[in-house]
Parts: sequence; structure tokens; C-alpha cells
Amino acid sequence: MRIDVLTLFPEMLEGVFGASILGKARDKGLVQLNAVNFRDYANNKHNTVDDYPYGGGGGMVLKAEPIFSAVEDLPQEEGVRPRVILMCPQGEPFRQAKAEELSQERHLVFICGHYEGYDERIREHLVTDELSIGDYVLTGGELPAMVVIDSVVRLLPGVLGNESSAVTDSFSTGLLEYPHYTRPVEFRGWEVPEVLMSGHHARIESWRREQSLLRTLARRPELLEQIDLTLKERQMLEALRQGEQST
Ligand code: SAM
Repeated sequence: MRIDVLTLFPEMLEGVFGASILGKARDKGLVQLNAVNFRDYANNKHNTVDDYPYGGGGGMVLKAEPIFSAVEDLPQEEGVRPRVILMCPQGEPFRQAKAEELSQERHLVFICGHYEGYDERIREHLVTDELSIGDYVLTGGELPAMVVIDSVVRLLPGVLGNESSAVTDSFSTGLLEYPHYTRPVEFRGWEVPEVLMSGHHARIESWRREQSLLRTLARRPELLEQIDLTLKERQMLEALRQGEQST
């Protein structure tokens, strides 16, 4: 996969792209990560990429020309149409299903805004997706783009070692993940649940599934509406809900 990030602050990306699992994925050649400063595509002698908004009001607006030129200048593999993703708080809320969808692509291009916003023609005629990482406003699109890139790259084949599998992660199964424990068996009087040390795989699997369901019910009950549950699981959750209502 090739990922290009259009930004005015390429130095913000280097630490994240070079470290930990992303850095290793890049070193192994599993992903190409490039930062492109779209100021290099400003077509005026002061290298400005923003201008005052038509109609007045505060804040500066990113101009269309440098961003169109930077995207059009990116190397393109024959037959591969890049996904051009605009980071913006008004975009589609980013979720794990979108990370899985994007991880199937060959080429992703992220556009990181700054200031008040973008010329609307970028949104209308250049981008394929608009993504928001949450209902709050940041100063720029670099942190949101890094969030999305991290979650996509870790899904690429070969990126995660056996020690950290994405299959059972929260949201991948539709549920929140079950609790984990490691040594020692007892810490300050708090013990590891006995079942986890039983060596009985079927019992462990069933405990983990139940814990995932309980945790999801307690923290994100709306997720339970979207997944297939067995009759036994539905009955267990119903009993818990009824119990909550009667207390
Ligand atoms: N005036 C814009 C609005 O009200 O929608 C907010 C602009 S914000 C100050 C500047 C840039 O930060 C945006 O263009 C976008 O790239 C990025 N940004 C801020 N919050 C974001 C979020 N929640 N998700 C994704 N990108 C965000």
C-alpha cells in the first residue's frame, strides 16, 4: 500500500511514521508512507496556500489550486484509482469497519486542513471520502490522519506479529474485547480469574465471549444491536437488563 499525506507540517508525521509498528511496516516494505508539503505547489511568489473567504468572516481558507496540483502530481500505479480522503470534523465518523475497508486499497491520499477550512471545490471535485475522528475540533488534520493511518496499517497482512492479533480487538468482532491478565497470579490480593489458568480452551473461550458481552452491555450497549447473538446469549443479556431495571 502507498499512503501520501498532504500537509503544511510534514515534520509532524515523521515521528509517528518512523516509530513502533508503523516504522517496522515501512522498513519491511509493507507500506510506503510519504508526506507531501502542498506549499511546494503554491503558484504565487509568496508561496501562500490560503486566502480570505469570499463573503467575509474570520479565518483563512485553503485554496483549491495547490491541493489539486499536489494530488495530480502524485505517482499513480496503472489501473489504481487512489482514495482521496479529506480530514474534516464534518466528515463521516471514522470506525473500525472503515479502517478495514481502506486496508483493502492500494493507494490512499490524505488531505490535512488547517485554519478555517477548505475551498468547497476540493470537497466537491477532488475527494472520494471525508472522515472525522470525533465530534470535536482540532487545529489541523495531521493528528486525525495519523489516527486513521495507524488503524489501517496495522490491518495490512504481515504488519502485526503473532503477539498482537487484530482479530479479537474491540470492534473487529462487533463487541468490546474481554479483559486480559498476566503474571503474577495474585497482585495486592487481587487474583486472576481461575478459568484463565485452567488450560481448558473451550471454557476460556466461553468466559471471554461472556465477558465481551457483559462489557459491551455495560459500556456500549448500542453495539449489541448490530451483531448476531445466539439464543443463549440473548437470554443472558435480557436477564441482565431486567435485573438492572428492577434494582
Ligand atoms: N471550520 C471547520 C469546521 O467548523 O468544520 C474546522 C476547521 S479545523 C480548525 C482545521 C482542520 O483540522 C480541518 O480542516 C481538518 O483537517 C482538521 N480537523 C479538525 N478537527 C477534526 C476532526 N474532528 N476530524 C478530522 N479532522 C479534523
